[in-house]
Order: sequence, then C-alpha cells, then structure tokens
Amino acid sequence: MKRRFVLGAILSVGALTMTVAGYQAPAAPKVIDMVKLKDNLYVLTSSTPGNAATFSGGNVAIFITDNGVTLVDTKLAGWGQAILDKLKTVTNKPVTTIINTHTHGDHTGNDGFFGTSVEIVAHENTKANMERMDAFKGENAKFLPKKTYKDKMTVGSGKDRIDLYYFGAGHTSGDTFVVFPALRVLHTGDMFAWKDGPLCDRGNGGSCVAFPATLDKALKNIRNVDTVIAGHSPMQTPKDLQEYQRFTAALLAHAQAAMKAGQSVDDATASFKVDKYPGYTNERVKGSIQAVYDELKK
Ligand SMILES: [Zn+2]
Repeated sequence: MKRRFVLGAILSVGALTMTVAGYQAPAAPKVIDMVKLKDNLYVLTSSTPGNAATFSGGNVAIFITDNGVTLVDTKLAGWGQAILDKLKTVTNKPVTTIINTHTHGDHTGNDGFFGTSVEIVAHENTKANMERMDAFKGENAKFLPKKTYKDKMTVGSGKDRIDLYYFGAGHTSGDTFVVFPALRVLHTGDMFAWKDGPLCDRGNGGSCVAFPATLDKALKNIRNVDTVIAGHSPMQTPKDLQEYQRFTAALLAHAQAAMKAGQSVDDATASFKVDKYPGYTNERVKGSIQAVYDELKK
C-alpha cells in the first residue's frame, strides 16, 4: 500500500511537471511608455526593433488640440488598445487626425483602429506605398490617407498648427517631417530612426544615396525647433540631427569610394568606423552600404 502510494505520488509529480512544461505563457502585456514634452504634446515611446515581444512600433506623437487629438504614426497592428489606454490618461478628446510619417507597418499599424471619422494624412508617395500593403487592401482601403500633399502642407492654425514637409527620398520615397511650430518640436519619422546606419527601403523607393541630401534640406528649411522626436530613439536635439546628417553623408562617401575601388560590401563595412560618433552603433552599417551598392550598380 505504502509503496503504491509513493509511486502514485511520483507519477503525480511527473504529471504536474509535464503540465508545467506544456503550459503556454500568456502573451506579454502590451505596455507602452509615455514621455511628456509639453502640456499638449506627449510621445508614446519606441524600443529599438529587435525584441519582438516588447516592440510596439515607432515613436508616436500625441498632439492635443482644441478640436481633438492628432497622432503622428500609430505603431504596430495589435497595439491600438494600448495606445488608446495611454491616451485616455492625458485627455478625453477623441482622435480626429492621424499623420503617417511613412508607409511601414510599425508606423501605420493602427490607422484603422480609431475609426472611419479620423482624417488620415500622408505624403502622396506614402499613400501609393500604402496601397500596395496587404493591411490596406479590400475593406481596409477605407483607412488609406485621404489627404495628401507634394512638398509642404499645413494642418490647423495658431497654436494648433502642424507643418508637414517633404524633401525627397531617404528611408522610403514618402517620408514626412512633421513640425509643431508653437512647441518647437519636430518628428522625423525614420529619417532619423537611430544612431546607426539608415535603413533605406528600396522596395518602397528609399535611397541611401539621396538620404544625406534629403536630411540636409530638412535641416536648412526647418528652423526654430528645440526637440526632435526620432523614429525609434529617445528624444533628440537639432544638434543630434545635424550629426546624423553628417554621419549619413560620411557613410555614403565611404561606400561610394569603396565601390569605386572595387571593394566588397564586407570590406567596406569593416573599414567604416563609428567611433568618432558618440553613442553610435554599427549594427546597420552593412545594410546601408549594401543599399548604396545595389542602387549604384548597373
Ligand atoms: Zn520605417
């Protein structure tokens, strides 16, 4: 009897262990951090892409105006409720406008979450890029941007004014620089995503060859800004953006020279040093150099 009991206990423990081993952990709770920049401007922050469990998508600006809330970008699909929950902690106003800095799913993923009454705004090339995304096909085509522009557009007026600028290809073919003039804040989208080599999405018209010149135009035309909201980094300054422009220009010049000298992409990558740029990493440098080679080779 006793022996059987012990054996039974061992089997029970074994079964329990198996249950635990087979137990599926629930998905990590969707938590988004928020930074307050001004009384009427907040940022739902982004972690660097890489950790799929916690990556919510790019930095989202929440701009609270007299008429409602404007969101700049909407993170990855599935994070809409988490955005709304956080938004509700700072305002009761509804989302009335969404500005998409560019086409990618980690910036447009919840455009449809806030309903059909929301006005969605983007550069005309970004609308064209979005039309090719599965997420905006069929029934969801109603969430494509209805308001588009070519070079510059202003939305709202007075303290609620938002200026949208387009300066050419870079991360994609339709990157918008979003300025809140009264607050002296700029959202760059992924034209300044991180302190590393730029991602140039050639499938969506991006160009690492044009990237530094496009950034240079932005720096020359956008003045009176103190704070820069980058695509996937903590808050930056205009000085950081200037440094990033120089970094992308140096990277382009390096890639062009290496290509001319007949070097491989690997050799060109190995000889590009990021040391003189404090806080920079080189995890994406190879991708940027590859993009230059692909674009320049005939
Ligand atoms: Zn992007």
